[in-house]
Amino acid sequence: MEIKRRRFLSALTLSPIAVSTPLFAAESQDNPNWDESYDVVIVGSGGAGLAAAAECGQAKVKTLVLEKESVIGGNTRITGGGYNACDPQEQEKLGIQDSPALHAQQTLEAGGFRGNPKLVTILADKAPETLAWLKSKGVEFRPGTYQIYGGLYPRGHATVKPAGLGYIEALQKSAENEGVKFRLQSKVTRLFKDDSSNRVVGLEYIDKRGKHKKVGAKKAVIVATGGFSANSELCSSIDPRLEGLTTTNHPGATGDLLDPMISIGAATIGMDYIQCVPGLVKGDKNRTSFVHKAENFIFVNKDGQRFIPEDANRAVLCEAVLNQRDKICFPIIDQKGMDALPPGQRSNCEKALKAGEAYEAPTLEELAKKMGVPPEELVKTVNEFNEFVKNKKDPKLGRKLLVNTISHPPFYAGRNSMSVHYTMGGVKINEKAQVVGRDGKPIKGLYAAGEVTGGVHGTNRVGGNAVAEIFVFGRIAGQNASAER
Ligand code: ADP
Repeated sequence: MEIKRRRFLSALTLSPIAVSTPLFAAESQDNPNWDESYDVVIVGSGGAGLAAAAECGQAKVKTLVLEKESVIGGNTRITGGGYNACDPQEQEKLGIQDSPALHAQQTLEAGGFRGNPKLVTILADKAPETLAWLKSKGVEFRPGTYQIYGGLYPRGHATVKPAGLGYIEALQKSAENEGVKFRLQSKVTRLFKDDSSNRVVGLEYIDKRGKHKKVGAKKAVIVATGGFSANSELCSSIDPRLEGLTTTNHPGATGDLLDPMISIGAATIGMDYIQCVPGLVKGDKNRTSFVHKAENFIFVNKDGQRFIPEDANRAVLCEAVLNQRDKICFPIIDQKGMDALPPGQRSNCEKALKAGEAYEAPTLEELAKKMGVPPEELVKTVNEFNEFVKNKKDPKLGRKLLVNTISHPPFYAGRNSMSVHYTMGGVKINEKAQVVGRDGKPIKGLYAAGEVTGGVHGTNRVGGNAVAEIFVFGRIAGQNASAER
């Protein structure tokens, strides 16, 4: 069979990876050279890939999930796990008024109005029903809601199982029960688009023995490969301030499929919006999450002083920390704050305490000495903050979330710098989760969902919105790909 080759120059991408764009073959869907064929092939087994897989399974289409790592789950496995959804049943018990419209409005505003309003509305409107769907798949949630770091509103839901395990175990089981196949250590490297039908018809991957395999996709390929926070070269070429920072991501978050998608004409959006959150100082090993619940911590700098309203959005928080001496900040909590951490987060903090990468002391003075900050400053800062909580007003920095004092010993401090956490940009999608080409038209047979896509979060992602996004859009991609003819 004739193999046509075409080189696509990705004019719209800001990504240097496109420079190394290889040549791509265009092959027909019924190519006898496929090693095997499925209806739908999903690339990546994080939350978006798994939600798509569960939907394809439910629709009874023959589906294969290819995952390059030796475990499933990607970043979703190690996420904080908070899921934002308006949930009157839980929120009204806590006196919280909420609505999908407010969720959408806050999301657009926090993203500098650069998010696509249509996608943002879908996210906010479908987050509640997707929460119910996850519960129906066996994901267990803790009662109540909370305000996630940079989450801006108490609509975060925490799972009973630590990190993202609750989600991935339930969805993998659901998909496998419906016959979906999972293949690990299978790294996808190429997409094939048939020039005559202008449709994505399959892909190539490298299997665990290093062999190149071609798989046909009769209905569609769904790309759910996550972001590129672990690709430090790409991140710091986009934002030089990120050079030398650690990442919170799993090592596979390298943006592999951006290049193949751009090469067949995909548009990208928001590639230069990269989010950082408190993470490891270079050389430290144990990631802490003292900031897990925004109501329970304050940040201080090396002078023992607060410097930012801690309930601000993540972009503002990041900027503020990067401007502190040595780019270091210390989140401070008390024993009540420690008790409020979910078990997984708590055990991480305990590991850091043991390793001397976080601090515990019976008094604030002793805590300050361990941290190497002026004790009188830390005491003054915490006392002042406690007064603000009692008066429900922070005249110093304007923090609005004034719920808990920091007054129950022992006291704890984390040691953080900013860590590359999330890439808001990626390929452009439409409301059906179809990848949109640089000509403005959907690329037939190609869907994408989750962090590999751009356009949902704008310049800054609201804490708790990514977990909602991967499931909402993963499901949409799975449903529409299954319905293809
Ligand atoms: P999301 O939150 O968008 O679902 P995750 O980071 O949780 O993203 O999951 C993405 C998954 O895709 C990870 O498990 C990652 O290892 C996988 N992945 C990334 N690149 C490839 C690739 N080239 N081939 C197969 N799987 C990949």
